Amino acid sequence: MARHDTALLSGLIETCRDAIALHAETLCDLDRAIGDGDHGTNLRRGCEAVHAQRVAVAALPLAQALERIGTLLVMSVGGASGPLYGTLLIELGRALAGRDTVSPEDLAVALRHAVAAVARRGRTSAGDKTLLDVLYPVAAALSRQATLPAISRRARISAGRTAAMQARRGRAAFLGERSIGHVDPGASSCALMTAAICRYLQEHRPQ
Ligand code: ADP
Ligand code: MG
Repeated sequence: MARHDTALLSGLIETCRDAIALHAETLCDLDRAIGDGDHGTNLRRGCEAVHAQRVAVAALPLAQALERIGTLLVMSVGGASGPLYGTLLIELGRALAGRDTVSPEDLAVALRHAVAAVARRGRTSAGDKTLLDVLYPVAAALSRQATLPAISRRARISAGRTAAMQARRGRAAFLGERSIGHVDPGASSCALMTAAICRYLQEHRPQ
């Protein structure tokens, strides 16, 4: 994203909403295995809330738009994932405050800052079997200027790797060793949205 592009942001909101709506049942199934079965429902509610306001949101300056999306997610998602995804967007917005144009380097720095804020908020480290196990590798891939398909692939592979991890945060942590063998629902939703965003940018970003 170079100069803030209203149509592009509106399209990204829509593509995330569509990806979550399409996979909501799968996300609930994953959460049923190691949590309480509501992750797909929670995120679908959040994405619908953002989508309903996308015209007004996308018209805001980029930093404010991202903060607004984060606030809407905190208010509507419910569950542990709401404040975490909300923090990600709010901190991404704060890190980009005042910028009219955003280079890939700016975005990489801002994402690293936002991911660190999510980790603090969740008191979570890499390997705890959460959405951070996708966010860290995605931020790292962006920092080394990986291509969009490569970032998407990294997200998908990273989500798959959570199956081998034992959960140390969130509801799944109560299962101890029994959480091993299941993909983390938050990692999966994060990979799905990353893939949807990369695909959309590949097709629509201004050259
Ligand atoms: P809840 O667990 O309250 O039902 P969700 O089902 O919407 O909330 O979200 C569960 C996901 O949230 C998990 O799969 C995990 O990725 C993420 N999660 C939960 N707790 C934490 C945490 N402390 N830090 C990071 N991610 C977390
Ligand atoms: Mg849940």
